Amino acid sequence: MATESVLKPDFATKRKHFIFSDEHEQLRESIRAYATRELAPHAEEWEETTFPDSVFARMGELGFLGLDKPEEYGGQGGDYYTSLVLAEEIVHAQSGGLAMGIAVHTDMAMPPILAFGTEEQKQEWVVPAIRGEKILCLGITEPDAGSDVAGIKTRAVRDEASGEWTINGSKTYITNGHRADVIVLVTKTDPDAGYDGFTLFLVGMDAPGVIREKRLDKLGMHASDTALLAFQDVRVTDRAVLGQVGKGFYHIMWELQGERLIGAAGCVAGAQRCFEQTLQYAKDRTAFGKQIGKFQVIRHKFAEMATKIETARQMVYTTAWRHTNGEYPVREISMAKLYASRIAVEVADECIQIHGGAGYMKEYGIERVWRDLRLNRIGAGTDEIMLDVIGKSYGL
Ligand SMILES: Cc1cc2nc3c(=O)[nH]c(=O)nc-3n(C[C@H](O)[C@H](O)[C@H](O)COP(=O)(O)OP(=O)(O)OC[C@H]3O[C@@H](n4cnc5c(N)ncnc54)[C@H](O)[C@@H]3O)c2cc1C
Repeated sequence: MATESVLKPDFATKRKHFIFSDEHEQLRESIRAYATRELAPHAEEWEETTFPDSVFARMGELGFLGLDKPEEYGGQGGDYYTSLVLAEEIVHAQSGGLAMGIAVHTDMAMPPILAFGTEEQKQEWVVPAIRGEKILCLGITEPDAGSDVAGIKTRAVRDEASGEWTINGSKTYITNGHRADVIVLVTKTDPDAGYDGFTLFLVGMDAPGVIREKRLDKLGMHASDTALLAFQDVRVTDRAVLGQVGKGFYHIMWELQGERLIGAAGCVAGAQRCFEQTLQYAKDRTAFGKQIGKFQVIRHKFAEMATKIETARQMVYTTAWRHTNGEYPVREISMAKLYASRIAVEVADECIQIHGGAGYMKEYGIERVWRDLRLNRIGAGTDEIMLDVIGKSYGL
């Protein structure tokens, strides 16, 4: 065989997936540069204070809050893959809490307003949200109902004479709840109508009766704010109804699909960043006279981690491709969310192990990655709920 025809493994080639174009790669570079230069230097400080609202304003200015949103509302008009790029590159802010706060705004609360909102609602909330001047949050979970969305108790009752709705109830674990200007609120409007008894509302967070009760303390994601909210005789008009009265359950189930896929993309990117940092550590650190990465047991840990990350990445990209091509791949989204969340936590855990004592120290940031990523097996639908969705999709 001629020397020039010998194939050598191309480990060092740039791994651009076929769903991404050169424009996506340029966007990737600019988000990464922004996150590295302007956000990462503050990551430690924001663990104590939560990240400031000015991050929304700056990201709005840079056009990062409406990448895949229509140009008529101030968005960039890009495809769905642009939002995947944001979810992936924002990990370079080195702040899971910040990434979550931004994702709640762009990929959880904004899509239902765009999909189901009136023109007036889009002008009032989406246009300033894309500019980063108004902040959004999403209220599904309640103290007595999380996984069981249909078990929520927040009630909205319409007075036929005045045409006004009165809302009473409570929401908990609400990301951005302390800083938000508006909440996409899931309520029960007809307790006898089963899944047809729910309605979404857009409620201004400064409306009388909306009480931001408590700033909740948590294991990780410290840069984000998490609220317990109370709604006491909050009065709104029909103009605050988001989508169809009685169809809120279906609207929110649709919203959760986007939230889960973006969450999965963030998990893959978070695991990859943690992997790379640890790879460098394994090359720098020596024990018994050699690099620790040269011990076969450690080398195999990297091989296992890389394989898991790559598998999760392919699941996310393939599912995103199907979504972009008009499918509603709920089973695959659930699989991607389940698998990516699990492997991200496994990877972060192995990375702590490979760091030894340093992994347990705050200084290296690895323990924070583990604490932040751990949320993903719970938020936006737990592992158990994902397994149930997948299992039921086979008619079981
Ligand atoms: C930091 C953080 C931020 C969050 N942000 C938001 C937000 O912005 N907006 C929002 O609305 N919510 C938010 N959540 C809430 C999150 O989505 C819920 O915590 C999650 O859906 C689980 O609900 P739960 O906590 O009530 O747990 P539960 O539903 O009480 O579940 C407890 C356990 O029981 C299991 N379980 C429940 N039902 C079943 C079943 N049918 N089969 C098998 N096992 C089952 C669960 O998997 C879990 O292990 C956030 C949560 C956290 C921790």
